[in-house]
Amino acid sequence: MSLSRHVSPHSSAPDSRKPIILQIDPEDLIHHLPLGNGSPGPSSHLTPYASPYASQKDIPKYKIPTEGSPADTVYAMIKDELDLDGRPNLNLASFVGTFVEDNAQKLMVENISKNLADNDEYPAMMSISERCVSILAHLWGVQKGEKAVGSPTTGSSEAIHLGGLAMKRRWQEHRRAAGKDTLKPNIIMGANAQVALEKFARYFEVEARILPVSAKSNFCLDPDLVRENLDENTIGVFAILGSTYTGHFEPVEEISKILDEYQEKIGVDIPIHVDAASGGFVAPFTHAGAGGKKWNFELPRVKSINASGHKYGLVNPGVGWIVWRDESYLPRHLIFELHYLGGTEESYTLNFSRPGGQVIVQYYNLIHLGYLGYREVMENCLTNARMLSKSLEATGWYTCVSDIHRPASQSGAGLASETATAASKAKNAIASAASSASANTASPPEAAAETSASYTAGLPVVSFRFSDQFRTEFPRVRQETVSLLLRARQWIIPNYSLPPNEDTTDILRVVVRESMSFDLLDRLVTDIVQVTETLMRNDEVDLSILAKQRRGPAKKEGKDGGDKGVRKDGTGLGNEVKRMAEGIHRSVC
Ligand SMILES: *Cc1c(COP(=O)(O)O)cnc(C)c1O
Repeated sequence: MSLSRHVSPHSSAPDSRKPIILQIDPEDLIHHLPLGNGSPGPSSHLTPYASPYASQKDIPKYKIPTEGSPADTVYAMIKDELDLDGRPNLNLASFVGTFVEDNAQKLMVENISKNLADNDEYPAMMSISERCVSILAHLWGVQKGEKAVGSPTTGSSEAIHLGGLAMKRRWQEHRRAAGKDTLKPNIIMGANAQVALEKFARYFEVEARILPVSAKSNFCLDPDLVRENLDENTIGVFAILGSTYTGHFEPVEEISKILDEYQEKIGVDIPIHVDAASGGFVAPFTHAGAGGKKWNFELPRVKSINASGHKYGLVNPGVGWIVWRDESYLPRHLIFELHYLGGTEESYTLNFSRPGGQVIVQYYNLIHLGYLGYREVMENCLTNARMLSKSLEATGWYTCVSDIHRPASQSGAGLASETATAASKAKNAIASAASSASANTASPPEAAAETSASYTAGLPVVSFRFSDQFRTEFPRVRQETVSLLLRARQWIIPNYSLPPNEDTTDILRVVVRESMSFDLLDRLVTDIVQVTETLMRNDEVDLSILAKQRRGPAKKEGKDGGDKGVRKDGTGLGNEVKRMAEGIHRSVC
Protein backbone atom coordinates (compact mmCIF):
# COMPACT_ATOMS: atom_id res chain seq x y z
CA MET A 1 0.00 0.00 0.00
CA SER A 2 1.37 3.41 -0.84
CA LEU A 3 1.42 6.35 1.48
CA SER A 4 -1.48 8.48 0.27
CA ARG A 5 -1.65 12.23 0.18
CA HIS A 6 -4.64 14.46 0.61
CA VAL A 7 -5.96 15.71 -2.70
CA SER A 8 -8.04 18.85 -2.79
CA PRO A 9 -11.25 18.37 -4.75
CA HIS A 10 -11.10 22.05 -5.83
CA SER A 11 -8.13 21.97 -8.15
CA SER A 12 -7.86 25.04 -10.34
CA ALA A 13 -9.11 25.16 -13.91
CA PRO A 14 -6.50 25.02 -16.68
CA ASP A 15 -5.68 28.34 -18.33
CA SER A 16 -7.77 28.37 -21.49
CA ARG A 17 -5.56 30.94 -23.22
CA LYS A 18 -2.57 28.65 -23.30
CA PRO A 19 -2.13 27.63 -26.93
CA ILE A 20 -0.70 24.11 -26.57
CA ILE A 21 -0.41 21.96 -23.50
CA LEU A 22 2.31 19.37 -23.48
CA GLN A 23 1.03 17.43 -20.54
CA ILE A 24 -2.56 16.65 -19.75
CA ASP A 25 -4.01 15.33 -16.56
CA PRO A 26 -6.90 13.20 -17.88
CA GLU A 27 -8.85 13.54 -14.67
CA ASP A 28 -8.62 17.32 -14.82
CA LEU A 29 -9.63 17.25 -18.43
CA ILE A 30 -12.82 15.32 -17.83
CA HIS A 31 -13.61 17.40 -14.80
CA HIS A 32 -13.65 20.61 -16.80
CA LEU A 33 -15.51 19.47 -19.86
CA PRO A 34 -18.88 21.23 -20.17
CA LEU A 35 -21.10 18.40 -18.99
CA GLY A 36 -24.30 20.37 -18.42
CA ASN A 37 -25.63 21.24 -14.98
CA GLY A 38 -25.07 17.85 -13.42
CA SER A 39 -28.76 17.43 -12.69
CA PRO A 40 -29.65 13.90 -11.65
CA GLY A 41 -31.46 13.00 -14.89
CA PRO A 42 -33.94 10.14 -15.13
CA SER A 43 -34.74 8.55 -11.81
CA SER A 44 -35.66 5.04 -12.97
CA HIS A 45 -33.38 2.44 -11.50
CA LEU A 46 -33.56 -0.44 -13.90
CA THR A 47 -29.85 -1.18 -13.86
CA PRO A 48 -26.94 -0.13 -11.72
CA TYR A 49 -25.98 2.17 -14.56
CA ALA A 50 -29.21 4.18 -14.37
CA SER A 51 -27.59 6.73 -12.15
CA PRO A 52 -25.95 10.09 -12.72
CA TYR A 53 -22.60 8.38 -12.14
CA ALA A 54 -23.12 6.47 -15.36
CA SER A 55 -22.42 9.48 -17.52
CA GLN A 56 -22.90 12.90 -16.03
CA LYS A 57 -21.16 12.82 -12.72
CA ASP A 58 -17.77 11.85 -11.46
CA ILE A 59 -17.88 9.32 -8.67
CA PRO A 60 -16.71 11.23 -5.56
CA LYS A 61 -13.02 10.64 -5.00
CA TYR A 62 -11.61 12.98 -2.42
CA LYS A 63 -14.55 14.08 -0.27
CA ILE A 64 -17.37 12.05 1.17
CA PRO A 65 -20.60 12.78 -0.74
CA THR A 66 -23.44 14.33 1.26
CA GLU A 67 -25.89 11.72 0.15
CA GLY A 68 -25.31 8.07 -0.47
CA SER A 69 -26.11 6.13 -3.63
CA PRO A 70 -27.79 2.80 -4.32
CA ALA A 71 -25.69 -0.17 -3.39
CA ASP A 72 -25.76 -1.89 -6.78
CA THR A 73 -24.65 1.31 -8.50
CA VAL A 74 -21.73 1.88 -6.20
CA TYR A 75 -20.79 -1.79 -6.39
CA ALA A 76 -20.78 -1.67 -10.18
CA MET A 77 -18.73 1.53 -10.28
CA ILE A 78 -16.09 0.18 -7.94
CA LYS A 79 -16.00 -3.23 -9.55
CA ASP A 80 -15.64 -1.72 -13.00
CA GLU A 81 -12.82 0.55 -11.91
CA LEU A 82 -11.03 -2.42 -10.39
CA ASP A 83 -11.07 -4.11 -13.79
CA LEU A 84 -8.11 -1.87 -14.52
CA ASP A 85 -6.04 -3.90 -12.08
CA GLY A 86 -3.91 -6.72 -13.35
CA ARG A 87 -5.17 -10.28 -13.12
CA PRO A 88 -3.85 -11.80 -9.91
CA ASN A 89 -3.19 -15.19 -11.46
CA LEU A 90 -1.08 -13.62 -14.20
CA ASN A 91 0.74 -11.43 -11.71
CA LEU A 92 3.98 -13.37 -11.78
CA ALA A 93 5.70 -10.60 -9.85
CA SER A 94 4.21 -11.62 -6.55
CA PHE A 95 5.03 -14.29 -4.02
CA VAL A 96 1.65 -13.81 -2.41
CA GLY A 97 -1.00 -16.45 -2.97
CA THR A 98 -3.71 -15.73 -5.52
CA PHE A 99 -5.54 -19.03 -5.47
CA VAL A 100 -8.10 -19.73 -2.78
CA GLU A 101 -9.64 -23.13 -2.67
CA ASP A 102 -13.45 -23.29 -2.34
CA ASN A 103 -13.60 -24.68 1.16
CA ALA A 104 -10.95 -22.26 2.32
CA GLN A 105 -13.00 -19.44 0.87
CA LYS A 106 -16.07 -20.71 2.71
CA LEU A 107 -14.19 -20.70 5.99
CA MET A 108 -12.92 -17.20 5.25
CA VAL A 109 -16.39 -15.84 4.58
CA GLU A 110 -17.96 -17.67 7.52
CA ASN A 111 -15.40 -16.19 9.87
CA ILE A 112 -15.01 -12.80 8.27
CA SER A 113 -16.36 -10.98 11.32
CA LYS A 114 -14.02 -12.57 13.83
CA ASN A 115 -11.34 -10.41 15.34
CA LEU A 116 -8.09 -12.19 16.08
CA ALA A 117 -7.59 -9.89 19.06
CA ASP A 118 -10.73 -11.12 20.81
CA ASN A 119 -9.13 -14.07 22.53
CA ASP A 120 -11.81 -14.46 25.11
CA GLU A 121 -14.72 -14.28 22.71
CA TYR A 122 -13.33 -16.67 20.14
CA PRO A 123 -11.53 -19.38 22.09
CA ALA A 124 -11.84 -21.93 19.28
CA MET A 125 -10.14 -19.61 16.82
CA MET A 126 -7.41 -18.92 19.36
CA SER A 127 -6.85 -22.58 19.84
CA ILE A 128 -6.52 -23.04 16.08
CA SER A 129 -3.96 -20.25 16.00
CA GLU A 130 -1.95 -21.92 18.77
CA ARG A 131 -2.02 -25.22 16.91
CA CYS A 132 -0.55 -23.51 13.83
CA VAL A 133 2.33 -22.14 15.90
CA SER A 134 2.99 -25.58 17.27
CA ILE A 135 2.86 -27.22 13.83
CA LEU A 136 5.28 -24.65 12.43
CA ALA A 137 7.66 -25.00 15.36
CA HIS A 138 7.87 -28.72 14.63
CA LEU A 139 8.25 -28.21 10.89
CA TRP A 140 11.12 -25.85 11.62
CA GLY A 141 13.01 -28.31 13.78
CA VAL A 142 12.31 -27.22 17.34
CA GLN A 143 14.43 -29.34 19.68
CA LYS A 144 13.35 -31.58 22.54
CA GLY A 145 12.89 -29.77 25.80
CA GLU A 146 12.49 -26.37 24.20
CA LYS A 147 9.31 -24.41 24.73
CA ALA A 148 8.70 -22.75 21.40
CA VAL A 149 6.47 -19.68 21.40
CA GLY A 150 5.11 -17.71 18.51
CA SER A 151 2.33 -15.70 17.05
CA PRO A 152 0.36 -15.09 13.91
CA THR A 153 1.12 -11.69 12.39
CA THR A 154 -0.22 -9.67 9.49
CA GLY A 155 2.63 -10.97 7.35
CA SER A 156 6.35 -11.49 7.50
CA SER A 157 6.97 -7.78 7.92
CA GLU A 158 5.36 -7.59 11.34
CA ALA A 159 7.00 -10.90 12.23
CA ILE A 160 10.44 -9.57 11.25
CA HIS A 161 9.93 -6.45 13.32
CA LEU A 162 8.97 -8.55 16.34
CA GLY A 163 11.95 -10.86 15.81
CA GLY A 164 14.34 -7.93 15.39
CA LEU A 165 12.98 -6.12 18.41
CA ALA A 166 13.38 -9.20 20.59
CA MET A 167 17.04 -9.44 19.47
CA LYS A 168 17.59 -5.76 20.22
CA ARG A 169 16.11 -6.06 23.71
CA ARG A 170 18.09 -9.19 24.52
CA TRP A 171 21.27 -7.45 23.43
CA GLN A 172 20.39 -4.44 25.60
CA GLU A 173 19.74 -6.66 28.61
CA HIS A 174 23.08 -8.45 28.20
CA ARG A 175 24.94 -5.18 27.73
CA ARG A 176 23.36 -3.57 30.78
CA ALA A 177 24.03 -6.64 32.89
CA ALA A 178 27.69 -6.38 31.85
CA GLY A 179 27.75 -2.67 32.68
CA LYS A 180 28.22 -1.68 29.04
CA ASP A 181 26.51 0.98 26.95
CA THR A 182 23.58 0.28 24.64
CA LEU A 183 24.03 3.28 22.37
CA LYS A 184 24.99 1.76 19.06
CA PRO A 185 23.20 -1.45 18.16
CA ASN A 186 23.72 -2.77 14.65
CA ILE A 187 22.20 -5.58 12.62
CA ILE A 188 23.63 -7.41 9.62
CA MET A 189 21.84 -8.22 6.38
CA GLY A 190 22.64 -8.52 2.68
CA ALA A 191 21.87 -5.78 0.17
CA ASN A 192 19.28 -8.17 -1.25
CA ALA A 193 17.25 -7.77 1.95
CA GLN A 194 13.54 -7.31 1.50
CA VAL A 195 12.28 -3.89 2.54
CA ALA A 196 10.82 -5.25 5.81
CA LEU A 197 14.33 -5.94 7.14
CA GLU A 198 15.56 -2.44 6.46
CA LYS A 199 12.34 -1.05 7.85
CA PHE A 200 13.06 -2.82 11.09
CA ALA A 201 16.47 -1.17 11.33
CA ARG A 202 15.13 2.30 10.63
CA TYR A 203 11.96 2.15 12.67
CA PHE A 204 13.62 0.56 15.69
CA GLU A 205 16.80 2.61 15.51
CA VAL A 206 19.36 -0.03 14.83
CA GLU A 207 22.24 0.65 12.44
CA ALA A 208 21.68 -1.43 9.32
CA ARG A 209 24.91 -3.03 8.12
CA ILE A 210 23.82 -3.81 4.62
CA LEU A 211 26.54 -5.91 3.06
CA PRO A 212 27.20 -5.80 -0.67
CA VAL A 213 26.20 -8.85 -2.65
CA SER A 214 27.94 -10.26 -5.69
CA ALA A 215 27.75 -13.04 -8.24
CA LYS A 216 30.07 -14.98 -5.94
CA SER A 217 27.49 -14.84 -3.14
CA ASN A 218 24.57 -15.55 -5.52
CA PHE A 219 23.53 -11.96 -4.90
CA CYS A 220 22.89 -12.94 -1.27
CA LEU A 221 24.45 -12.28 2.13
CA ASP A 222 28.17 -13.09 1.83
CA PRO A 223 29.47 -15.05 4.85
CA ASP A 224 32.98 -13.62 4.37
CA LEU A 225 31.63 -10.11 4.70
CA VAL A 226 29.55 -11.10 7.72
CA ARG A 227 32.79 -12.08 9.47
CA GLU A 228 34.33 -8.69 8.70
CA ASN A 229 31.39 -6.68 9.94
CA LEU A 230 30.63 -8.19 13.34
CA ASP A 231 31.30 -6.44 16.60
CA GLU A 232 30.07 -6.41 20.18
CA ASN A 233 27.18 -4.16 19.18
CA THR A 234 25.78 -6.58 16.61
CA ILE A 235 22.35 -7.54 17.92
CA GLY A 236 21.93 -10.28 15.32
CA VAL A 237 22.14 -11.40 11.73
CA PHE A 238 19.14 -11.54 9.42
CA ALA A 239 19.52 -14.52 7.09
CA ILE A 240 17.02 -14.89 4.27
CA LEU A 241 15.67 -18.24 3.20
CA GLY A 242 14.70 -17.37 -0.27
CA SER A 243 16.11 -14.14 -1.64
CA THR A 244 13.42 -12.09 -3.33
CA TYR A 245 15.73 -11.34 -6.26
CA THR A 246 16.78 -14.80 -7.29
CA GLY A 247 15.18 -17.31 -4.90
CA HIS A 248 18.57 -18.45 -3.57
CA PHE A 249 18.72 -19.66 0.02
CA GLU A 250 21.25 -17.78 2.10
CA PRO A 251 23.87 -20.03 3.73
CA VAL A 252 22.46 -20.02 7.26
CA GLU A 253 24.63 -22.91 8.44
CA GLU A 254 27.80 -21.26 7.20
CA ILE A 255 26.88 -17.98 8.81
CA SER A 256 26.08 -19.83 12.01
CA LYS A 257 29.59 -21.37 12.01
CA ILE A 258 31.16 -17.97 11.53
CA LEU A 259 29.20 -16.69 14.53
CA ASP A 260 30.31 -19.74 16.53
CA GLU A 261 33.94 -18.93 15.74
CA TYR A 262 33.38 -15.31 16.64
CA GLN A 263 31.91 -16.29 19.99
CA GLU A 264 34.84 -18.61 20.70
CA LYS A 265 37.38 -15.92 19.90
CA ILE A 266 35.71 -12.74 21.14
CA GLY A 267 33.14 -14.09 23.58
CA VAL A 268 30.18 -12.32 21.99
CA ASP A 269 27.12 -14.46 21.32
CA ILE A 270 25.26 -13.22 18.23
CA PRO A 271 21.89 -14.76 17.31
CA ILE A 272 20.40 -15.40 13.88
CA HIS A 273 16.86 -14.58 12.86
CA VAL A 274 15.87 -16.43 9.68
CA ASP A 275 13.58 -14.53 7.37
CA ALA A 276 11.95 -17.54 5.76
CA ALA A 277 9.07 -15.49 4.34
CA SER A 278 8.86 -17.81 1.33
CA GLY A 279 11.31 -20.59 2.17
CA GLY A 280 9.67 -21.43 5.51
CA PHE A 281 6.92 -23.21 3.59
CA VAL A 282 9.15 -24.50 0.78
CA ALA A 283 12.30 -25.99 2.30
CA PRO A 284 10.54 -28.20 4.90
CA PHE A 285 8.50 -29.94 2.20
CA THR A 286 10.65 -30.29 -0.90
CA HIS A 287 13.03 -33.14 -1.62
CA ALA A 288 15.78 -30.58 -2.12
CA GLY A 289 15.16 -29.08 1.32
CA ALA A 290 17.72 -26.35 1.83
CA GLY A 291 20.28 -28.21 -0.28
CA GLY A 292 21.35 -30.53 2.51
CA LYS A 293 22.29 -27.57 4.69
CA LYS A 294 20.77 -26.73 8.02
CA TRP A 295 18.76 -23.55 8.23
CA ASN A 296 16.24 -23.88 11.07
CA PHE A 297 16.14 -24.60 14.81
CA GLU A 298 18.47 -27.54 14.26
CA LEU A 299 21.08 -24.81 14.41
CA PRO A 300 21.23 -23.65 18.05
CA ARG A 301 22.09 -20.13 16.91
CA VAL A 302 18.82 -19.69 15.04
CA LYS A 303 16.59 -18.19 17.71
CA SER A 304 13.60 -17.10 15.67
CA ILE A 305 12.07 -17.75 12.24
CA ASN A 306 9.35 -15.94 10.34
CA ALA A 307 7.31 -17.01 7.33
CA SER A 308 4.46 -15.58 5.29
CA GLY A 309 1.41 -17.80 5.51
CA HIS A 310 0.13 -15.87 2.51
CA LYS A 311 3.06 -16.84 0.30
CA TYR A 312 3.91 -20.54 0.00
CA GLY A 313 1.78 -21.17 3.10
CA LEU A 314 -0.96 -20.98 0.43
CA VAL A 315 -3.29 -18.59 2.29
CA ASN A 316 -4.65 -15.39 0.76
CA PRO A 317 -3.04 -12.10 1.89
CA GLY A 318 -3.09 -11.25 5.59
CA VAL A 319 -1.13 -13.79 7.60
CA GLY A 320 2.44 -14.35 8.66
CA TRP A 321 4.08 -16.27 11.46
CA ILE A 322 6.92 -15.87 13.91
CA VAL A 323 8.26 -18.61 16.14
CA TRP A 324 10.99 -18.40 18.78
CA ARG A 325 12.67 -21.67 19.55
CA ASP A 326 12.18 -21.12 23.26
CA GLU A 327 10.29 -18.64 25.39
CA SER A 328 13.56 -17.59 27.01
CA TYR A 329 14.48 -15.72 23.80
CA LEU A 330 11.48 -13.46 24.13
CA PRO A 331 12.18 -10.81 26.80
CA ARG A 332 9.37 -10.78 29.35
CA HIS A 333 8.81 -7.06 29.20
CA LEU A 334 7.83 -7.24 25.53
CA ILE A 335 4.89 -9.44 26.38
CA PHE A 336 1.61 -7.82 27.28
CA GLU A 337 -0.81 -9.54 29.56
CA LEU A 338 -4.38 -8.91 28.56
CA HIS A 339 -6.91 -9.60 31.26
CA TYR A 340 -10.33 -10.77 30.35
CA LEU A 341 -13.27 -11.95 32.33
CA GLY A 342 -12.34 -15.48 31.39
CA GLY A 343 -8.64 -15.31 32.09
CA THR A 344 -5.32 -13.86 30.99
CA GLU A 345 -3.79 -13.89 27.55
CA GLU A 346 -0.28 -12.98 26.63
CA SER A 347 0.46 -11.09 23.46
CA TYR A 348 3.45 -9.78 21.56
CA THR A 349 2.32 -8.15 18.33
CA LEU A 350 2.36 -4.71 16.76
CA ASN A 351 -1.29 -4.85 15.72
CA PHE A 352 -4.26 -5.43 17.94
CA SER A 353 -7.41 -6.01 15.89
CA ARG A 354 -7.06 -7.95 12.68
CA PRO A 355 -8.97 -10.51 10.68
CA GLY A 356 -8.86 -14.07 11.95
CA GLY A 357 -10.03 -15.84 8.80
CA GLN A 358 -6.56 -16.24 7.34
CA VAL A 359 -5.34 -18.02 10.44
CA ILE A 360 -8.25 -20.43 10.14
CA VAL A 361 -7.44 -21.03 6.48
CA GLN A 362 -3.80 -21.64 7.38
CA TYR A 363 -4.90 -24.40 9.71
CA TYR A 364 -7.29 -25.73 7.07
CA ASN A 365 -4.45 -25.95 4.55
CA LEU A 366 -2.09 -27.65 6.97
CA ILE A 367 -4.66 -30.28 7.86
CA HIS A 368 -6.22 -30.66 4.42
CA LEU A 369 -2.99 -30.86 2.43
CA GLY A 370 -0.88 -32.47 5.07
CA TYR A 371 2.86 -32.86 4.66
CA LEU A 372 2.55 -34.77 1.41
CA GLY A 373 0.07 -32.32 -0.07
CA TYR A 374 2.39 -29.39 0.58
CA ARG A 375 5.24 -31.44 -0.82
CA GLU A 376 3.30 -32.07 -4.01
CA VAL A 377 2.45 -28.41 -4.46
CA MET A 378 6.02 -27.27 -3.84
CA GLU A 379 7.53 -29.95 -6.07
CA ASN A 380 5.10 -28.98 -8.83
CA CYS A 381 6.08 -25.34 -8.50
CA LEU A 382 9.76 -26.26 -8.67
CA THR A 383 9.24 -28.57 -11.65
CA ASN A 384 7.43 -25.82 -13.53
CA ALA A 385 10.07 -23.27 -12.56
CA ARG A 386 12.80 -25.60 -13.84
CA MET A 387 10.93 -26.09 -17.07
CA LEU A 388 10.58 -22.37 -17.58
CA SER A 389 14.28 -21.85 -16.82
CA LYS A 390 15.39 -24.54 -19.24
CA SER A 391 13.08 -23.28 -21.97
CA LEU A 392 14.40 -19.76 -21.60
CA GLU A 393 18.02 -20.87 -21.71
CA ALA A 394 17.30 -23.12 -24.68
CA THR A 395 16.54 -20.02 -26.74
CA GLY A 396 20.08 -18.78 -26.30
CA TRP A 397 18.57 -15.34 -25.79
CA TYR A 398 18.29 -15.62 -22.04
CA THR A 399 20.48 -16.68 -19.13
CA CYS A 400 19.04 -17.55 -15.74
CA VAL A 401 20.49 -15.92 -12.66
CA SER A 402 18.46 -18.29 -10.50
CA ASP A 403 19.88 -21.80 -10.11
CA ILE A 404 17.02 -24.18 -9.28
CA HIS A 405 17.24 -25.79 -12.75
CA ARG A 406 20.93 -26.59 -12.42
CA PRO A 407 22.02 -30.00 -11.10
CA ALA A 408 22.66 -29.92 -7.38
CA SER A 409 26.42 -30.20 -7.76
CA GLN A 410 26.75 -27.46 -10.32
CA SER A 411 25.52 -23.90 -10.28
CA GLY A 412 26.45 -20.64 -11.95
CA ALA A 413 25.23 -19.37 -15.29
CA GLY A 414 25.85 -21.34 -18.47
CA LEU A 415 24.65 -20.57 -21.97
CA ALA A 416 22.78 -22.93 -24.25
CA SER A 417 24.38 -24.02 -27.49
CA GLU A 418 23.51 -22.34 -30.75
CA THR A 419 21.82 -24.65 -33.24
CA ALA A 420 18.09 -24.86 -34.26
CA THR A 421 15.96 -21.78 -33.89
CA ALA A 422 15.56 -20.39 -30.44
CA ALA A 423 11.80 -20.64 -30.50
CA SER A 424 11.83 -24.28 -31.53
CA LYS A 425 14.35 -25.09 -28.83
CA ALA A 426 12.17 -23.51 -26.19
CA LYS A 427 9.20 -25.44 -27.50
CA ASN A 428 11.19 -28.66 -27.54
CA ALA A 429 12.16 -28.17 -23.94
CA ILE A 430 8.51 -27.88 -22.99
CA ALA A 431 7.47 -30.78 -25.22
CA SER A 432 10.11 -33.15 -23.89
CA ALA A 433 9.13 -32.25 -20.36
CA ALA A 434 5.51 -32.98 -21.22
CA SER A 435 6.25 -36.35 -22.80
CA SER A 436 8.47 -37.45 -19.95
CA ALA A 437 5.72 -36.35 -17.56
CA SER A 438 3.13 -38.45 -19.37
CA ALA A 439 5.56 -41.36 -19.67
CA ASN A 440 5.96 -41.09 -15.94
CA THR A 441 2.30 -41.74 -15.28
CA ALA A 442 2.61 -45.13 -16.96
CA SER A 443 5.78 -46.20 -15.19
CA PRO A 444 6.08 -47.30 -11.57
CA PRO A 445 6.21 -44.47 -9.04
CA GLU A 446 9.89 -45.01 -8.24
CA ALA A 447 10.88 -44.52 -11.86
CA ALA A 448 8.76 -41.39 -12.11
CA ALA A 449 10.79 -39.63 -9.53
CA GLU A 450 12.71 -36.75 -10.88
CA THR A 451 12.47 -34.51 -7.90
CA SER A 452 13.99 -31.28 -6.74
CA ALA A 453 16.58 -33.39 -4.91
CA SER A 454 18.66 -33.56 -8.09
CA TYR A 455 18.75 -29.79 -8.40
CA THR A 456 20.08 -26.77 -6.59
CA ALA A 457 17.76 -25.87 -3.72
CA GLY A 458 15.87 -22.61 -3.84
CA LEU A 459 12.47 -21.01 -4.26
CA PRO A 460 10.40 -21.71 -7.38
CA VAL A 461 11.59 -18.44 -8.85
CA VAL A 462 13.04 -17.83 -12.29
CA SER A 463 15.26 -14.77 -12.56
CA PHE A 464 16.60 -14.25 -16.04
CA ARG A 465 18.31 -11.72 -18.24
CA PHE A 466 19.42 -11.32 -21.84
CA SER A 467 22.37 -13.58 -22.57
CA ASP A 468 25.69 -11.88 -23.25
CA GLN A 469 25.48 -12.97 -26.85
CA PHE A 470 22.02 -11.47 -27.23
CA ARG A 471 23.22 -8.20 -25.75
CA THR A 472 26.13 -8.09 -28.15
CA GLU A 473 23.96 -8.78 -31.17
CA PHE A 474 21.00 -6.64 -30.17
CA PRO A 475 22.43 -3.82 -28.10
CA ARG A 476 19.45 -1.59 -28.85
CA VAL A 477 16.91 -3.95 -27.29
CA ARG A 478 16.10 -3.02 -23.72
CA GLN A 479 15.20 -5.83 -21.40
CA GLU A 480 12.63 -3.62 -19.74
CA THR A 481 10.67 -3.61 -22.99
CA VAL A 482 10.14 -7.35 -22.69
CA SER A 483 8.31 -6.72 -19.45
CA LEU A 484 6.30 -3.94 -21.04
CA LEU A 485 5.22 -5.98 -24.07
CA LEU A 486 4.34 -8.97 -21.92
CA ARG A 487 2.13 -6.67 -19.90
CA ALA A 488 0.15 -6.01 -23.07
CA ARG A 489 -0.51 -9.76 -23.13
CA GLN A 490 -1.63 -9.52 -19.49
CA TRP A 491 1.46 -11.13 -17.95
CA ILE A 492 2.96 -9.14 -15.12
CA ILE A 493 6.67 -9.89 -15.08
CA PRO A 494 8.80 -7.17 -13.52
CA ASN A 495 12.23 -6.11 -14.68
CA TYR A 496 14.32 -5.22 -11.60
CA SER A 497 17.85 -4.05 -11.05
CA LEU A 498 19.87 -6.36 -8.85
CA PRO A 499 20.72 -4.94 -5.39
CA PRO A 500 22.86 -1.79 -5.06
CA ASN A 501 26.43 -2.28 -6.32
CA GLU A 502 25.20 -4.95 -8.74
CA ASP A 503 22.44 -2.73 -10.05
CA THR A 504 23.87 -2.39 -13.53
CA THR A 505 22.34 -5.82 -14.12
CA ASP A 506 18.60 -6.08 -14.63
CA ILE A 507 16.63 -9.24 -14.13
CA LEU A 508 13.20 -10.29 -15.27
CA ARG A 509 11.60 -12.38 -12.56
CA VAL A 510 8.84 -14.95 -12.56
CA VAL A 511 7.56 -16.32 -9.27
CA VAL A 512 6.03 -19.72 -9.93
CA ARG A 513 3.06 -20.24 -7.65
CA GLU A 514 0.78 -23.26 -7.35
CA SER A 515 -1.70 -21.90 -9.88
CA MET A 516 0.93 -21.62 -12.61
CA SER A 517 -0.08 -24.80 -14.39
CA PHE A 518 1.70 -26.54 -17.22
CA ASP A 519 -0.55 -25.12 -19.95
CA LEU A 520 -0.16 -21.61 -18.67
CA LEU A 521 3.58 -22.10 -18.60
CA ASP A 522 3.52 -23.19 -22.21
CA ARG A 523 1.64 -20.02 -23.14
CA LEU A 524 4.07 -17.93 -21.17
CA VAL A 525 7.09 -19.38 -22.96
CA THR A 526 5.37 -18.83 -26.32
CA ASP A 527 4.63 -15.22 -25.43
CA ILE A 528 8.15 -14.51 -24.17
CA VAL A 529 9.59 -16.00 -27.36
CA GLN A 530 7.23 -14.00 -29.59
CA VAL A 531 7.80 -10.76 -27.73
CA THR A 532 11.56 -11.20 -27.90
CA GLU A 533 11.39 -11.97 -31.62
CA THR A 534 9.34 -8.84 -32.18
CA LEU A 535 11.96 -6.79 -30.41
CA MET A 536 14.79 -8.36 -32.38
CA ARG A 537 13.05 -7.46 -35.62
CA ASN A 538 12.08 -3.99 -34.57
CA ASP A 539 14.04 -0.83 -35.17
CA GLU A 540 15.44 1.58 -32.70
CA VAL A 541 12.80 4.28 -33.03
CA ASP A 542 9.86 2.10 -32.06
CA LEU A 543 11.68 0.74 -29.07
CA SER A 544 12.57 4.14 -27.70
CA ILE A 545 8.94 5.24 -27.87
CA LEU A 546 7.95 2.19 -25.89
CA ALA A 547 10.55 2.90 -23.28
CA LYS A 548 9.05 6.31 -22.60
CA GLN A 549 5.66 4.78 -21.89
CA ARG A 550 6.72 3.65 -18.48
CA ARG A 551 4.61 4.75 -15.60
CA GLY A 552 6.25 6.01 -12.43
CA PRO A 553 9.69 7.53 -11.90
CA ALA A 554 12.47 6.96 -14.37
CA LYS A 555 14.81 4.19 -13.35
CA LYS A 556 18.44 4.37 -12.32
CA GLU A 557 19.48 7.57 -14.09
CA GLY A 558 20.95 9.94 -11.54
CA LYS A 559 20.18 7.71 -8.57
CA ASP A 560 21.98 8.84 -5.41
CA GLY A 561 24.29 11.04 -7.44
CA GLY A 562 25.52 8.13 -9.49
CA ASP A 563 28.44 6.82 -7.44
CA LYS A 564 28.01 3.09 -7.54
CA GLY A 565 31.44 1.60 -7.89
CA VAL A 566 31.70 -2.10 -7.31
CA ARG A 567 33.89 -3.01 -4.42
CA LYS A 568 36.70 -5.14 -5.76
CA ASP A 569 39.31 -5.34 -3.04
CA GLY A 570 37.61 -4.77 0.27
CA THR A 571 38.50 -1.08 0.45
CA GLY A 572 35.79 1.43 1.13
CA LEU A 573 33.41 -1.23 2.39
CA GLY A 574 32.48 0.89 5.39
CA ASN A 575 31.27 3.71 3.18
CA GLU A 576 29.45 1.42 0.86
CA VAL A 577 27.65 -0.33 3.68
CA LYS A 578 26.67 3.05 5.04
CA ARG A 579 25.52 4.46 1.72
CA MET A 580 23.13 1.59 1.22
CA ALA A 581 21.50 2.26 4.58
CA GLU A 582 20.71 5.89 3.76
CA GLY A 583 18.39 7.77 1.50
CA ILE A 584 15.12 6.60 0.04
CA HIS A 585 14.95 2.88 0.10
CA ARG A 586 14.73 1.16 -3.25
CA SER A 587 13.90 -2.46 -3.03
CA VAL A 588 12.30 -5.47 -4.60
CA CYS A 589 9.38 -7.22 -3.00
C1 LIG B 1 7.68 -11.08 1.19
C2 LIG B 1 8.89 -11.01 1.99
C3 LIG B 1 8.92 -10.24 3.17
C4 LIG B 1 7.75 -9.44 3.61
O1 LIG B 1 6.70 -10.29 3.89
P1 LIG B 1 5.17 -9.84 3.97
O2 LIG B 1 4.50 -11.10 4.33
O3 LIG B 1 4.81 -9.35 2.61
O4 LIG B 1 5.06 -8.79 5.00
C5 LIG B 1 10.10 -10.24 3.90
N1 LIG B 1 11.16 -10.94 3.51
C6 LIG B 1 11.17 -11.69 2.39
C7 LIG B 1 12.40 -12.47 2.04
C8 LIG B 1 10.03 -11.74 1.59
O5 LIG B 1 10.04 -12.49 0.48
